[in-house]
Amino acid sequence: MRPEALNPLFVETEALEGVGPKLRRPLEKLGLTRVKDIAYHLPDRFVERRAVADLDEASVGENIIVALTVREHRASTGRGPFRAMAEDALGNSCALTYFGRASYSARKLLPLGEKRWIAGRLEQYGQMLQIVHPEHVSEDAAAPLGQLREPVYALSEGLTQGRVAHLVAQALKALPMLPEWAEPGLVARLRWPAWREALIEAHRSHDPAGRDRLAFDELLANSLALMLVRESNRAQSGTPLVGDGRLRARLKLPFALTGAQVRSIGEIEGDIAQKAPMLRLLQGDVGSGKTVVALSAMLIAVEAGAQAAMLAPTEILARQHHETLTRMAAGTGVEIALLTGRDKGRARESILMGLVDGSIDILVGTHAIFQDTVAYKNLALVVIDEQHRFGVGQRLMLARKGRRTPHCLAMTATPIPRTLTLAQYGEMDVSRLDELPPGRQAIDTRVVATERMDDVVGAMARHLEGGGQAYWVCPMVRESESDDLAAAEARYAGLKARFGDAVVLVHGQLKPEAKDAAMERFASGGAKLLVATTVIEVGVDVPNATLMVIEQAERFGLAQLHQLRGRVGRGSDKSVCLLLRGNALSETARKRLALMRETQDGFRLAEEDLELRGGGELLGTRQSGDTPFRIASLEQIQRLLPLAHDDARLLMERDGGLTGPRGEAARLLLYLFERDWGVQLLRGG
Ligand code: ADP
Ligand code: MG
Repeated sequence: MRPEALNPLFVETEALEGVGPKLRRPLEKLGLTRVKDIAYHLPDRFVERRAVADLDEASVGENIIVALTVREHRASTGRGPFRAMAEDALGNSCALTYFGRASYSARKLLPLGEKRWIAGRLEQYGQMLQIVHPEHVSEDAAAPLGQLREPVYALSEGLTQGRVAHLVAQALKALPMLPEWAEPGLVARLRWPAWREALIEAHRSHDPAGRDRLAFDELLANSLALMLVRESNRAQSGTPLVGDGRLRARLKLPFALTGAQVRSIGEIEGDIAQKAPMLRLLQGDVGSGKTVVALSAMLIAVEAGAQAAMLAPTEILARQHHETLTRMAAGTGVEIALLTGRDKGRARESILMGLVDGSIDILVGTHAIFQDTVAYKNLALVVIDEQHRFGVGQRLMLARKGRRTPHCLAMTATPIPRTLTLAQYGEMDVSRLDELPPGRQAIDTRVVATERMDDVVGAMARHLEGGGQAYWVCPMVRESESDDLAAAEARYAGLKARFGDAVVLVHGQLKPEAKDAAMERFASGGAKLLVATTVIEVGVDVPNATLMVIEQAERFGLAQLHQLRGRVGRGSDKSVCLLLRGNALSETARKRLALMRETQDGFRLAEEDLELRGGGELLGTRQSGDTPFRIASLEQIQRLLPLAHDDARLLMERDGGLTGPRGEAARLLLYLFERDWGVQLLRGG
């Protein structure tokens, strides 16, 4: 139950004055649904204005506040703007220009012969000075002079700066007084304001200490919650699994394991021999050989007389895993079954029976394998593939299946940097497959100017004629989604005109069935060219696809480019990746593309990506969704996460966890940042 003190913050935005059904939508678009979200909708930046006595003091392009007297109204002609011609104390004239509907109110706002204080950006239009859509117009000096510095918020259609500011002001009034959850020594040393002051001040000025404090709070909540998960996991009982090696001995692999694979299997073996359930993340680039590590772990479970299950994020991946595992384990006599949402009737019944009576040793499937109707005889190990698709909440739910908590091995092909690994998976131990199997051919990566599109299409034609398959990736960036989608569809139409029905299109707005069908046609070789936005399923394995074209590669982050490129280079043939670039490249984009050419090491790319983005990052320009945080920037995560982590540990080990006085405050923090699964676990466990 959420502590009462926080209730005012979790009230829906409609409780605020001025928010009705009409305003709710644009707020939701920004992820603002409750008062707390509004309070935490921090400004991207601030406009700084200068008060000037007259226009001679100001320069073009500057944000100013100046007193002007209105001399003439020039009505709009046709689609032209409405202009109020005004002059300053020296008689310099300046137009106040309004387009569209704004011109109706402008007449009333700027009566003839009256003096008004105007805030806005001074521009030159032909011979004329003008201010377009002044941000403030008032009768007396006091109001605009209070606006020398003004926050600029991220908006969505239907919102204005003024509206948001008005809502923020209300939200800030609702802030309760909360006790300090951070370690007092730390707060004093870094001269951090208290939570409430920090939040209020963050809307008034750029105060680095305050912003750090707010970011720290979010990081602390996260670290603490993950630590609680870890703690509670340690208190659970799982089944100690000790194998005798008989099944693994019968595993006939056409290759020798890499050192990293041997090490990882050893780490897993050590974990699952314990009574406390394993929580381990296996991090390894695409192609690093995670599947055989997972299989070895599952075989240990079966050797020990238990069952194992492997969860894949999509139907296709589940099928692929089932095939691969069945092939690899052919000589072992182990029974491996597949269960997805599509299985119905008899087939499904028989699988369910096999799970209960124990004749099925290993089950592979989508989340269907954890439905309530699916019961296991003795499930002791769960492997989750492409971990990043599942949140901590889901991870925990899986762990609750069965009387005893199964050991959990999570796998991800997203090589994230160490700091972010800690933030995202801090409750787990980590094994890294940082060594690719030998004999991998490097992917020939080239950066090509978009102007050479004809050559690229020509190369594609030769590739397809030679019997190869290929990917064509179009960018899809959140803000301009409809434009990007249109561009992808246009590209698809163009390629289809050239290459016919062998071309399929996959994008995020397709229904899952349509997407699956297209992917399957491509995976089975029926389709030759897959045009896709970035939704190409992670882990999809089509070894015959050895050419990839990525359009507007400069718009992608390094990690994303790397993920995409990992779709090729999976067979024995040489693969090529063409990165098409535009002409106006930023320095960062140039560096990114160069790095892509230089290396294929995912961990290195991940670190460099963080470095490049963290360094060049401006307030408010970061992409959301690539970290579990809303407040903390990449740069702050790197700098403050270690502090937050240490502080969380201090709280757990020295300050009595959530029970002491500081713990009470920390509990509020967990709820504030909705990491309360941490609290619930503690109670449940
Ligand atoms: P991941 O799931 O990590 O992307 P996979 O498990 O699918 O990678 O392995 C990629 C390919 O490499 C598969 O064809 C697999 O058989 C092969 N492979 C795995 N381990 C080795 C190894 N030690 N030596 C050679 N090939 C390997
Ligand atoms: Mg895989």
